[in-house]
Amino acid sequence: MPKAIIIGAGIAGIATAIRLAIDNYEVSVFEANDYPGGKLSQFNKQGYRFDAGPSLFTMPQYVDKLFNLAGKKPSDYFEYEKLEEVCRYFWDDKTHLTAYADIDKFAKEIEKNTQSTQQEINTFLKKSETIYDVTHEVFLEKSLHLLNTYTNVNTAKSFLRFGEIDAFRTMAKANQSFFTDAKMVQYANRFATYNGSNPYQAPATLNVIPHLEQNFGAYFPKNGMYAITQSLVKLAEDLGVKFYYKKKVDEILVENKKVKGIKINSEIIEADVVASNIDVYFTYKKLLKDEAQPQKILKQERSSSALIFYWGIKKEFPQLGLHNIFFSDNYKDEFNHLFKSKTIFNDPTVYINISSKFKKDDAPSGCENWFTMINVPNNIGQNWEVFKTEARANIIKKLNKNLGIDLESLIETEEVLDPVLIESKTSSYRGSLYGTSSNGKFAAFLRHANFTKKIKNLYFVGGSVHPGGGIPLALLSAKIVADIIKNE
Ligand code: FAD
Repeated sequence: MPKAIIIGAGIAGIATAIRLAIDNYEVSVFEANDYPGGKLSQFNKQGYRFDAGPSLFTMPQYVDKLFNLAGKKPSDYFEYEKLEEVCRYFWDDKTHLTAYADIDKFAKEIEKNTQSTQQEINTFLKKSETIYDVTHEVFLEKSLHLLNTYTNVNTAKSFLRFGEIDAFRTMAKANQSFFTDAKMVQYANRFATYNGSNPYQAPATLNVIPHLEQNFGAYFPKNGMYAITQSLVKLAEDLGVKFYYKKKVDEILVENKKVKGIKINSEIIEADVVASNIDVYFTYKKLLKDEAQPQKILKQERSSSALIFYWGIKKEFPQLGLHNIFFSDNYKDEFNHLFKSKTIFNDPTVYINISSKFKKDDAPSGCENWFTMINVPNNIGQNWEVFKTEARANIIKKLNKNLGIDLESLIETEEVLDPVLIESKTSSYRGSLYGTSSNGKFAAFLRHANFTKKIKNLYFVGGSVHPGGGIPLALLSAKIVADIIKNE
């Protein structure tokens, strides 16, 4: 049986392990932390449970696919439900908007609360669907770095439709043409943050994202987001994958331009193939120090990061749902702070995720677990202690004003996650959430490939390489790597 080593038990590492085990590899996963999941992890504090990282679950079919490939029934491992309400939006002038999954209901809500119309949202979502149709197979499900991707009929068809993907104007420009109401433009621009980008720079191709959330749907895993990690680890173990925790890999061993294995302290572990699930920047800088470095790729702009306050709140708020957004009054200024001056705007857009709305035991009775997040720049050595203090005060001020409360008096427990901690806990360069940003027109082509021509049998998976960050794309990177290995 050929041997495979996966470095890192992030979601892409676990998915790669599953796929290779199904393809008859003897698979070992080495993880630096004492738990799996990387960014997709959880913690408990004073009777509250918090998902530490991702909170929005889309494209569940990519998770189901792994159980199906293994010949298992997905629901024996993992259950989820489709959300009727995708998100609740709030503006400081007291405008509220609920994005219902039912598009007619959502359109009525838009017409009731804004100047925009049913036709505008329909046209916007239709365009989003078109971009998905043209891009998903070529840009997301295949390697962009292999010749046979380009010699395929479907790829040729996609390239003939290239003009339809709106690559030559920014999201913000495009969205102004879709919506008459500035609030709906802001709603549409927000989707750039789903991969840590800036809507005032990123191509309107990113308008593909609302299709995933609004047309395909948003979901809630019955046992919280961490259930995705837990169920996939269980599947991997059932397939014979061995997980080794507290095993920080120090080096990828290369001999005659071919991968030979890994080194942990002075222990050498040999393998036929190695897949690195850690940030590509650190894969090169730390594990491949003596090999040629792809300097241009490693210097690419990184996505934004996040500052999160995990608050145990001793009150329930019926006006809030699972996902809630309190918009900044000046979105452009907020993004200039994030990507230009690399600071935090004093009126940040605040996102609150409350999993106890669905999973009651995530908080004590009468209480809620608030995952309160703002987008922040990636870490370039800013003074995060000062930023955190200022941001906390600004968030509380904004929520007090919107909800008419004294939030400070309701917080009974608090944990904080900032870009420096994100980097140290998951080895993500600069604490970026989604690898490189998608602010340039050609970002999709510039990400690191899932393999390197310079070292045979070495592969790359996860949010920092093709096709990009976020759970669905990280899972697709595992598919691409397994397909490449199979075809070789
Ligand atoms: P990672 O999660 O980055 O894991 C890499 C693993 O490698 C870690 O476990 C790390 O410990 C390990 N490792 C590092 N170095 C070594 C070493 N030398 N040896 C061994 N192991 C090592 N995505 C969504 O889809 N929806 C969301 O709502 C969403 N929100 C997010 C919110 C936050 C706060 C964060 C942080 C991310 C969010 N994301 C979201 C993005 C999503 O979490 C990531 O894209 C995805 O989880 C990345 O997975 P990955 O496989 O690349 O690995």
